[in-house]
Amino acid sequence: MEKYWNQEIETMSLEDMRKLQSERLVAQVKHVYENVKYYRDLMDEKGVKPEDIQSVDDLHKLPFISKADLREAYPDGLLAVPKSQCVRIHSTSGTTGKRVVAFYTQKDVDLWEDCCARAITAAGGTEDDVCQVAYGYGLFTGGAGLHGGSHKVGCLTLPMSSGNTDRQITFMRDLGTTILCCTPSYAAYIGETLHEMGLTPDDVQLKAGIFGAEPWTEEMRRSIEKSLGIKAYDIYGLTEISGPGVAFECSEQKGMHINEDNFIPEIINPETGEVLPEGEVGELVFTSITKEAFPLLRYRTRDLCVLSRKKCSCGRTLIKMTKPMGRSDDMMIIRGVNVFPSQIETVLIEQGYSPNYLIEVDRINNSDTLDISVEMNPDQFSDKVKDMQQQERALAEAIKTMLGISPKVHLVSPKSITRSEGKAVRVIDKRKLHD
Ligand code: ADP
Ligand code: ZN
Repeated sequence: MEKYWNQEIETMSLEDMRKLQSERLVAQVKHVYENVKYYRDLMDEKGVKPEDIQSVDDLHKLPFISKADLREAYPDGLLAVPKSQCVRIHSTSGTTGKRVVAFYTQKDVDLWEDCCARAITAAGGTEDDVCQVAYGYGLFTGGAGLHGGSHKVGCLTLPMSSGNTDRQITFMRDLGTTILCCTPSYAAYIGETLHEMGLTPDDVQLKAGIFGAEPWTEEMRRSIEKSLGIKAYDIYGLTEISGPGVAFECSEQKGMHINEDNFIPEIINPETGEVLPEGEVGELVFTSITKEAFPLLRYRTRDLCVLSRKKCSCGRTLIKMTKPMGRSDDMMIIRGVNVFPSQIETVLIEQGYSPNYLIEVDRINNSDTLDISVEMNPDQFSDKVKDMQQQERALAEAIKTMLGISPKVHLVSPKSITRSEGKAVRVIDKRKLHD
């Protein structure tokens, strides 16, 4: 059996898992209370003492911690060990504001890499595989996490980092890459480039992709699977909690198993903070129970999803989370309607358009405007203005059916929208500039 298929943990009974989590939680709360003044103050303010936390059932008594707290405590106000025990930092991509910094001890790095190794194993990776890591290397956790996981599994690792797409494909072919790791938007770009070079999936050895770090739809998954001739697996994580590998997809390709021996998940109502029962949509909250250097308790991710303990065909009993449909702060309110970019992406791909699009929101004369630029595939292009207008109207109509509000659609020529090599920027909200 593969080295990083941890049968004991990954198929543990719920009762045993809760016992393991409880033991680790009790110790972790004590560690944090004793060593992190910032969180101790939050607990004192709430009147909670470490002794009040006896098991996972007491988790709800602890105060939340949010990105705002991380920014306030920047750079090292949440560090729980002396700096001399830390061996590395990483930092968020800063997608939604000032970056935050996370610290790691050697044990933290090891446990994180184990999580990524589990993810690669679940995607069918073994020491016989060649794993091309095309996530960015550096402060971003994507490259380092999958790199470490790939080493642990024993794959031949290609530390490509992102970018230089022609070279990605050259190495992919010359070295016989079987597993590709990158963001889904970059995977789509690599697929597009492969076809432009006159190649097909038969010209590469790829069998699987491990794609994450940004939201992507089922339609996007199918489109990448077809373009690269692979099975595409989702992987989720965030710098604050370690990095990629907090949750990973298995052969069922339906939701991601959370490494709950390291991270306890909860779903809360983002408005009230109330814990919601399994099956309801809400904000994902994590408590890291094994981290030494930067252990966050009840961290609000702002990612919206659903948790489920439904039996999985792969045999794992680890709880599953659905693909996050976006962060609470990705959600746009346009003319009073809640809109996620992922809803628009679903319609575009369903209607046969490329996943290259840009959403622009503005406010003109006190009314919100929604403009969507969508790239045509070469075969969708027509030199008859009337045909183009008709296609634009049809697409606007399909989007209106999904969202309930009418967008203005602009079909633009192939290759005119900038491709992403990392996390794609899909939305420009100009209203924020006027505020
Ligand atoms: P930043 O918050 O600056 O983007 P990170 O690089 O740590 O910093 O990104 C973590 C975030 O990326 C998550 O909170 C989530 O919103 C998003 N993310 C990561 N993996 C996925 C995934 N598989 N699906 C959807 N969103 C994801
Ligand atoms: Zn499974």
